[in-house]
Amino acid sequence: MLKMKIKLVDFETCTGCGVCVLVCPVNSIELVENNIGYKYPKINYDLCINCGKCLRICEEIKNNTTYESKEVFAAASKDQIILKNSSSGGIFSEMAKYILANGGYVFGASMDNNFFVRHIEINCLKDLPLLQGSKYVQSDSYIVFERIKILLLNNNLVLFSGTPCQISALISFLSDHYNNLYLVEIICHGVPNNKIFQDYIINYEKRQKCTVQNYKFRTKDRGWGIIGSVEYKKANHKQKRTVFSDEDSYYSAFLAGLIFRNSCYSCNFATKRRCSDITLGDFWGIQNEHRHELNVNSMNPFQGVSAVLINSNSGLELFENVKENINYFQSSFNKVARHNPQLYKPSERNSLRDTLLFNYQKFGYSSIENQFRKNFIKKLIILRVKNKIPRGIVFKIKKWFFFRFD
Ligand SMILES: Cc1cc2nc3c(=O)[nH]c(=O)nc-3n(C[C@H](O)[C@H](O)[C@H](O)COP(=O)(O)OP(=O)(O)OC[C@H]3O[C@@H](n4cnc5c(N)ncnc54)[C@H](O)[C@@H]3O)c2cc1C
Ligand code: SF4
Ligand code: SF4
Ligand code: SF4
Repeated sequence: MLKMKIKLVDFETCTGCGVCVLVCPVNSIELVENNIGYKYPKINYDLCINCGKCLRICEEIKNNTTYESKEVFAAASKDQIILKNSSSGGIFSEMAKYILANGGYVFGASMDNNFFVRHIEINCLKDLPLLQGSKYVQSDSYIVFERIKILLLNNNLVLFSGTPCQISALISFLSDHYNNLYLVEIICHGVPNNKIFQDYIINYEKRQKCTVQNYKFRTKDRGWGIIGSVEYKKANHKQKRTVFSDEDSYYSAFLAGLIFRNSCYSCNFATKRRCSDITLGDFWGIQNEHRHELNVNSMNPFQGVSAVLINSNSGLELFENVKENINYFQSSFNKVARHNPQLYKPSERNSLRDTLLFNYQKFGYSSIENQFRKNFIKKLIILRVKNKIPRGIVFKIKKWFFFRFD
């Protein structure tokens, strides 16, 4: 008899969470990278027994947005080292510290020495730096789900942090509620993938004739903002350079929404209703929303401030336990959302996205780099035409730009 083939993947909405792989009773699903680097499930129909488990769990994952935030705070760690090494106010680290101090385990996204981003587990404070800071690359998170289940069943405290779709995937995978689990999500507007980022690094090394040794998407060397840093070795000398988001091809494409996964443009989790215990983000615009409170609470926006959305009772309990280590004051959902549209709508699909990624697939990362350079020069010329900057300065910038990129 002919078997009916189950159709699992909707390429527009699949987040690549990997839970279908984990629940398949006959191991007939694997996540496979497409030509652009995004991973999608692939079914081996010779093994599939048509049980439908994968379809059912995939539907369920879309519907875990159960909470409306109970309270919203602006907050920053009192620990200057934590604050410096975190992307915003270091609240993730304060919560991780609390879990670790109580013998628990913390899971989050980490970048390895080969610039590959994946979720890892830590259970001692010295490893916390491995998890700190935003990595603007999709992290493989389902690889730690089975380990989390075992830890929870053995009554260990666990904190899992990730994007909202990863949190929702874990909730569905676990299926039961655990009082010893804390879920912390980041506000998320979208993710590129490991392949594009690795190709960017290779392209960078080729252009600069160097070996990249360390890469950070967010540093506070020049204060809180969208600025990264790259450390590399060139002619046996170590060098460090600031990565300005509007002068870098990968960063610009990321911020312009040009290289996100398909599902990010129709994200189910870009809504007021949240699925985690706590949501963390950058409290952009805080100087406009809370100038007075910043002064009263000795919080310096130059060092970074987090927006903290408390969504559940577990979230409230975790926040209570870190209060003495942070400066904080009350805010509101609307004040945070005014500067973070991801809290009520998905990122818009940039009309150039598909062409850019088509060219990337065909010609490699240099096509993204070239497109970026063309636009950069165009922007400079427009500025010049509008007489915003003197000719001499334009010349200097161009010279510097070509020196860097040619
Ligand atoms: C892809 C991405 C998009 C983001 N978009 C926004 C946004 O639009 N608006 C906004 O306000 N904030 C956004 N953030 C979150 C913000 O940058 C901070 O991460 C957040 O405010 C927490 O900061 P922190 O100082 O408390 O801790 P940090 O130390 O900065 O955060 C560390 C935690 O973030 C998690 N994390 C880092 N990279 C990833 C990743 N690739 N996948 C899953 N989890 C990750 C880790 O699990 C890590 O443990 C984004 C972060 C990422 C990774
Ligand atoms: S369960 Fe996750 S990986 Fe599998 S099809 Fe659904 S969204 Fe994609
Ligand atoms: S229908 Fe069942 S056996 Fe087939 S791929 Fe899905 S989970 Fe696996
Ligand atoms: S934008 Fe939505 S779908 Fe994309 S990574 Fe973030 S939470 Fe997941």
